[in-house]
Amino acid sequence: MCENPLNSIIVKSEKVNLIGLEPEALIEFFSRLGQKSYRAKQIMRWIYQRGVLKFDEMTDLSLQLRDQLSNEATLSLPKMISSEEARDGTRKWLLDVGAGQAVETVFIPETNRSTLCISSQAGCAMDCSFCATGRHGFNRNLSGAEILGQVIFANQELGSKLSITNVVFMGMGEPLANYRQVVQVAKLLIDDCAFGLSRRRVTISTSGLVPQIRKLAKDCNVALAVSLHAATDKVRDQLVPINQRHQIQELLESCWHYADSLASRHITFEYVMLAGVNDRIKDAISLIKLLKNKPAKVNLIPFNSFPGTAYTCSDDEVIIKFCAKLRAAGIVATIRRTRGDDIAAACGQLAGRVKDRMRVRLGDRQIRAANL
Ligand code: SAH
Ligand code: SF4
Repeated sequence: MCENPLNSIIVKSEKVNLIGLEPEALIEFFSRLGQKSYRAKQIMRWIYQRGVLKFDEMTDLSLQLRDQLSNEATLSLPKMISSEEARDGTRKWLLDVGAGQAVETVFIPETNRSTLCISSQAGCAMDCSFCATGRHGFNRNLSGAEILGQVIFANQELGSKLSITNVVFMGMGEPLANYRQVVQVAKLLIDDCAFGLSRRRVTISTSGLVPQIRKLAKDCNVALAVSLHAATDKVRDQLVPINQRHQIQELLESCWHYADSLASRHITFEYVMLAGVNDRIKDAISLIKLLKNKPAKVNLIPFNSFPGTAYTCSDDEVIIKFCAKLRAAGIVATIRRTRGDDIAAACGQLAGRVKDRMRVRLGDRQIRAANL
């Protein structure tokens, strides 16, 4: 049965939250109000380009339509619970998504770009052993309004001085496990009537959901980052449990297929540096075998610690040597500079506030990963 997109965004008062709604659903909404389809584009420009969230202020709509909209619809954003700013200018917001759940959004200013890192789920069910989000379990998928609401919220907080040039789905959650909503949001991020970002400036990061990677190539081929983290199935099975279902070769085949859809673009492979686990020269050699002469870039991420983890980060010299080994083999490799770690805003440190429902329902962690 085909799911009605309007169902997922009806708020308690039965009003429809128009934020994050795909253009087709907006057209349907306006046609129910007896309005022409061009209204959809008109309202998208107000919301996403001018940041206007009050129907009253949408001056090119008739007073009657503004009234109608106030009765039938809302423009609701997640509410801010707290805001922190790191020494390096990174900002982190904790946002309330209802029923005691809260997710985190991070803004990372750099010299020639500014990246917003958004969450796609309250928690994450993938259970990667080195990740704080995974450790806290999973509660639910975020709606399109809750995901895109993070971008509008951040724009409002930052004001006109700082603008978001890039958006990455690297906050809490596995974006491709919330496929429908994430694709809907990604399409709005690149839509000229909405945010109008170039495809290269929107990145979906995945732990390796192969069927969804293949589908994404057709549906919305924005930039793709894949959390590889190991060059052998034995090690990856331990770090990223979804590997037990989709092994490295199968994952890489889906990546090369994806890269073909991108017209000479690269897939970024993320590789967290864990002392004694995946950081030896023999690991670099295995990685080279997998990625040499392929449309691949490697981003080495120094492990960010969090309370209760048994992992430690590789020493700086080890990371530098690992990177040099890859480069000597002709692979483009970079070391990610850790940002915002003094406010726990760095990769893998986002925990938000999540009541783990998977643990209650399924108990066993392996079933949790396999059932997605
Ligand atoms: N769930 C998606 C995107 C969010 S995580 C994914 O896994 O790709 C963003 C990146 O941070 C991923 O590459 C993830 O593996 C990495 N990461 C998770 N925990 C980390 C940690 N403690 N230190 C460094 N990187 C981490
Ligand atoms: Fe989920 Fe990504 Fe963390 Fe794995 S690394 S548990 S997929 S958020």
